[in-house]
Amino acid sequence: MTTQNTSDRIILYDTTLRDGMQGIEISYSLQDKLDIAKALDDFGIDYIEGGFPLANEKEAEFFRLAGKAGLSHSRLVAFGSTRRPGGTAKEDAHLQALLEAETPTVMIVAKTWLAHVNKVLGTDPEENLHMAADSISHIKERGREVFLDLEHFFDGYKDDPDYALRLLETATQAGADCLVLCDTNGGTLPAEVRDIYAALPQDRLAPLGGHFHNDIGTAVANSLQAVESGAMHVQGTINGWGERTGNADLCVIMPNLTLKMEEKTSAGDSMKKLASLSRFVAEKANLIPDKRQPYVGEAAFSHKAGQHVDVLNKSAHLMEHMPAETVGNTRRIMLSELAGKSTVIKKLQRYGEYDKQSKEVQELTTKLKEKEALGYQYEAAEASFELVIQKTLGLYTPIFTLNNYHLESFKTYQAPSKTVGRIFLKHDHKEVMGAACGIGPVETLDKALRDALKPFFPFINRIKLIDYKVRVINPIEAAASRVRVFITTTDQTRNWDTVGVSENIVEASWEALVDSIEYYYNNYVKDENSPAPFEVDALEGTHL
Ligand SMILES: [Zn+2]
Repeated sequence: MTTQNTSDRIILYDTTLRDGMQGIEISYSLQDKLDIAKALDDFGIDYIEGGFPLANEKEAEFFRLAGKAGLSHSRLVAFGSTRRPGGTAKEDAHLQALLEAETPTVMIVAKTWLAHVNKVLGTDPEENLHMAADSISHIKERGREVFLDLEHFFDGYKDDPDYALRLLETATQAGADCLVLCDTNGGTLPAEVRDIYAALPQDRLAPLGGHFHNDIGTAVANSLQAVESGAMHVQGTINGWGERTGNADLCVIMPNLTLKMEEKTSAGDSMKKLASLSRFVAEKANLIPDKRQPYVGEAAFSHKAGQHVDVLNKSAHLMEHMPAETVGNTRRIMLSELAGKSTVIKKLQRYGEYDKQSKEVQELTTKLKEKEALGYQYEAAEASFELVIQKTLGLYTPIFTLNNYHLESFKTYQAPSKTVGRIFLKHDHKEVMGAACGIGPVETLDKALRDALKPFFPFINRIKLIDYKVRVINPIEAAASRVRVFITTTDQTRNWDTVGVSENIVEASWEALVDSIEYYYNNYVKDENSPAPFEVDALEGTHL
């Protein structure tokens, strides 16, 4: 059997079902593996490495069933190592199992780094060469295509280039169909990949491949560099999931090869199915797809409203490296973002006539940009947003100012924790005080604030907090991480949401609590003639 690489196209080799299974939180059932193999075949992947047939019954069963399923394009590959030191290939149970998987192609691994040959394998350099040669010719004689994975090739080459070359030559003479140079520890830089491929006498060797890990974030770059430097075969996993920080991501390599580098591959016509292949495998792995994944991630072609979107509408190629549809993704415009002036004008409509030149529009746009940079998000906190507008337009009346608050949490051996709090406010030129006892600091602060305001504002008794959410965030302009608190309040006929952001969770909660009370006062209590209150969700079952 000859190698599939009969033309000038780059061979795509997938190891999602073997190396990809080494990743944290990754586990596929037998049926998952069969479904993934089918999807890879449909996509046009040339080789599917199915795992090591001796590993367990599930792996062996996979080869039986996948073989029967009949893949239309892909070739199945059984993966294992060379014969044991000191033995013969013919009597090696391990090689026998690889043959019994009855795959058209067999991948065997040989060690390239002498430190590993000596310390891990416990044998000498010459025997390591014999092990590779015997294993390759044994499998070749039985009519299979044989690829050799050269484990730790780059580290081995840097340590002893002559020995690494001898292994390549030995494997070529023994009949290997492809020599895959592996960056097993994933620490190699693209320039090293370039130099090492360039230093090899490629015309005297079997075709070269590349297998890269992403420990320093260069797995895709190294794979592309390997192709630039003569490799005819690239390996990776779907979504880049694999051991440690992962393998080279085929979802990035494939569009780069076919769409950017104009290399021929057997998946060239499938790029429109790339995003769905990525999501299909994520679903099988039961992992949330990475939003920021190049090409296929949800954010790959997303844009915030504002000037950026204006340009995009006029000429998409100025803001996108390629149309999203090319890889089966979609462009997303985040309309809820507030940074653009046109969005602000729309929001101001119910307060009067404003245009892009209005002082208020400019002031509000700047204020919102600053707030968003600090981590505020108003999509889910319209009441806080309305308050920002009302403060800018001079339509807001504060009902108190804070002098100080004190909270003290305590816990004893047997009793649950408690918090006591006191708050001092200024209202109508007088100091007023509130006190409360609750379980946690936020609940206690809410109660103490109500205690202080109740005598002056009876509406306080009508409203209550019904939902509270906290999220840790890292906004653009903050060095330390912050928390964003969302609060939902109700007066039994309507709900409204407010937001607070701070490095301190109590402070963030305080901001959201104060917004909640001030919003209600300014929009429903203060003045019958105030603008029609902002429409809030009717109370349909609470979030408690
Ligand atoms: Zn690997």
